[in-house]
Amino acid sequence: MHPFSTPVRRTAGPRRRRTTAALGLCAALVSVCAGVPASAAETRADLIPPVTAPVVTAPVVTADQVMPHLTALQRIADRAGGNRAHGTRGYRDSVAYVKAALDKAGFRTALHRFTHDGTTGYNLIADWPGGDPGHIVFAGAHLDSEETGPGINDNGSGSAALLATALQVSKSGLKPNRHLRFAWWGAEEAGMVGSSAYVRDLSATERDRINVYLNVDMAGTKGNRPWLVVDDDPAAAEAFRTWFAARNLSTVGIGIGGSDHVSFGDAGIPVGGFATGIDDCTHQTCDRLENVDPVTETTSTNAFISTVWQLVARR
Ligand SMILES: [Zn+2]
Repeated sequence: MHPFSTPVRRTAGPRRRRTTAALGLCAALVSVCAGVPASAAETRADLIPPVTAPVVTAPVVTADQVMPHLTALQRIADRAGGNRAHGTRGYRDSVAYVKAALDKAGFRTALHRFTHDGTTGYNLIADWPGGDPGHIVFAGAHLDSEETGPGINDNGSGSAALLATALQVSKSGLKPNRHLRFAWWGAEEAGMVGSSAYVRDLSATERDRINVYLNVDMAGTKGNRPWLVVDDDPAAAEAFRTWFAARNLSTVGIGIGGSDHVSFGDAGIPVGGFATGIDDCTHQTCDRLENVDPVTETTSTNAFISTVWQLVARR
C-alpha cells in the first residue's frame, strides 16, 4: 500500500506547509511558474502564518566527532587492498567498525543479508529503542566503495555523518516521538542492490510505517557549493533548506537524484536527503581521507542531525 493513502498522511496537518513550499519554489523558479511573479509569491508567502513546528534543539558536532570515522575507514581500506567494495574484506571490516560503535551506544543492530554476484552482501540496520513504531524516520547511507578505490568521500563521508548522528542520538539520550532507524547499505555501487533488496523484503505494513527516508551520499566534497537537496518529502526538504539558508549556505533542489533513497521512493515512501556532489576522485584511487573537506563534512553532519531531530519530534 502506498503510504500517501494511509490516514496518517492524510491527517498530517500541513496543507499550509505545502502551500508555503510551493510558493517558495515558484519564487525560486519564477521563469517556470507562469502567472506567479516572484514578488507576488513572496507577498503571499508573507501572509501565510508560519508553520508551528515543535521547538527542538539538536546537538552540534565538531570535526573531531566525525573525521575519526573517516580515518578508520581509510585504515580499513588500506589493510584490505585499497577498497571497501561489496564482497570484500574491506566492506566486512567497515560493517564491523560501524556495528561495534552502534552496539556500544545502545542501538539494536542487525545484519540484513542479500546476494549479489554470487556473494553475500550485508546491510547494517540499527534501531534506536523507543518512539512510535507506527511512525518511523529512517536515515541511511551506503557503506560500500567501488573496487577502484577506498571510497572515503563516496561514501565514507555519508557513512561517517550518519554514524556521528546516531552517536549523538545515544549521547543525548534522545526520546523521539517517532521511531528512529538507521541503515548502512551494501552494494550501492552495484546499482543500489542492498537498499532495494531491503525494501523488497519489507511487508506492505512495514513499508507503510516508514514516514520518511533520508539519504546522505557524499557529504564532504571539497570546494562544494551548493548542497544538492533531494526534493520530495516537503518537511525534510524544508528542514534542510532552512538549516543551510540560516548559515548563508546555498542549496539546489535536485528532484530525486540517484542513490539508495530511490529504492524507497520507488516503493512510494517519501524521501529526502542531500549530497555535496561528485569530484575528480569519485570512484578513483585518490578518493582517500585527504579528498574530504573536514569543514564541509562537519557542516553536512550538523545539517543531518538537525533534520533528524526535527522529523522525529513530530507526532
Ligand atoms: Zn555514492
